[in-house]
Amino acid sequence: MTARSAFLRIKQSAIAATVAASAFLTGCGVMEAGLDGDRNSLLALNSSEDRGDFHVSYRPVEDDAYLKAIKHILESSGTYEAAVQDLNDALRLPEDVNIEFLQCGSADAYYDPNIKSITLCYELVQRYTEALGSDDGSMETAALHAGLFTLFHELGHALIDVLELPITGREEDAADEFAAIMLLWSEQEEAALSGAQQFSVDAAEWEEAPYWDEHGTDMQRYYNIACYVYGSDSDRWANLVTGESLPQERADLCEEDYWRKSNSWNKLLNPYLKQQIELTALNEQITRNSQRGL
Ligand SMILES: [Zn+2]
Repeated sequence: MTARSAFLRIKQSAIAATVAASAFLTGCGVMEAGLDGDRNSLLALNSSEDRGDFHVSYRPVEDDAYLKAIKHILESSGTYEAAVQDLNDALRLPEDVNIEFLQCGSADAYYDPNIKSITLCYELVQRYTEALGSDDGSMETAALHAGLFTLFHELGHALIDVLELPITGREEDAADEFAAIMLLWSEQEEAALSGAQQFSVDAAEWEEAPYWDEHGTDMQRYYNIACYVYGSDSDRWANLVTGESLPQERADLCEEDYWRKSNSWNKLLNPYLKQQIELTALNEQITRNSQRGL
């Protein structure tokens, strides 16, 4: 991937447009979903206030040439700022959320709801840059892909927290779904696939988490993300099945899975949209799937 000045703007902010598309298709937004009057007006009040944004910053790196190179790539590309700016343009947030790239001493990333802050460690980007590389062989592409899935995963946690989104199931799974779907909506399929491959790397190199862990196993997370990529365009990504990256038995469910998750995130974010803009490819996809009875 080359540097982009407008990461998510390929289709006039796919997020806003696709959420608008969902409301258009279903003929009802959350405001019209039959809620009672008090709750309806409370929801309208809560969702109409825009008092915050996501803010990206890059903290200095000490004594590590490779991490300095990673920092330079991330900072100079503008990719992450553009992604965050498009979320800011699309969504009303009740408060600020900071996103800090840090030299942490370990390959880690997390969202802290107490201080509304996402931390992404340069070491995590280094880990996946080195492990996965890139199709075009450039370190720049590898480094940008290495952090994107994790950034959106943590943004998913942040949105669930600050918007108090009514998710069900494991929050970690919802954050993975959000990351995969946002990247697919914004035509960053390679970054979504990189996210899947990162879990494959973790599965091979790290000890498996215990059964009580809040995350799914690394390989479950790998297959889930691969499934969303395949489901977003089964013709384009048929090689995931023929190349045995995704078993046919699971692949058979992926178009419906992707459609359901897309619709769910459409509806979850709809009340917080700043504006409704033109329909996009996802709308066409949803329409196509609906017609096929998915
Ligand atoms: Zn998480």
